[in-house]
Amino acid sequence: MDPNPVDPELAAWLATRTQTEAEQVEAELEVGERRRAFVVDELVEAGFTGRELLDRVMQLTGVDPERARALIAARAELDSGPGQAAARSRAGRLAENEILFRQLNERLASGGPGSALQELELVCECSDRDCVKLLMIEAAEYEWLRQNPYRFAVLPGHEAPALEDVVERHARFVIVEKHVETHDQVEAADPRRP
Ligand SMILES: [Zn+2]
Repeated sequence: MDPNPVDPELAAWLATRTQTEAEQVEAELEVGERRRAFVVDELVEAGFTGRELLDRVMQLTGVDPERARALIAARAELDSGPGQAAARSRAGRLAENEILFRQLNERLASGGPGSALQELELVCECSDRDCVKLLMIEAAEYEWLRQNPYRFAVLPGHEAPALEDVVERHARFVIVEKHVETHDQVEAADPRRP
């Protein structure tokens, strides 16, 4: 696990937006447990099963086989519940996270008075609510990105193939485009919408 120091201001802001206790947000951000569950979720959605699923979970989360099996079992339990409808609402819920980080980045990118930064330090816009890692992006690139309401900037490795396609791959970030099922949702929440 790489250390992911929590910015208290950001944690407080997220807590308000997600209607969660600030302490809980900070704790979750530090633990990284939800990130692992998220990775398993993604792999299952993408159609991986059995041995292949187990291998990928271990590769991507760095846990041992026993822990990986436990994560997969926990996810399987969830799956025995409601089917299609749950999957659809999951996509919507995850898109909400990306919308949230897009709003935050719009605030960060607008900067202070007289700011004309070439490089912006923004928050990863991936669908993992607990990811608040920073990414560097050129201001011009960011402007271009925001012209398309279906596109988001995420860190390499944070793309979610079940929910979005990679349209551009850069060394420091990846541009993803949401699948059609959440287009209405992300477009309606577009902060640049006239
Ligand atoms: Zn991320």
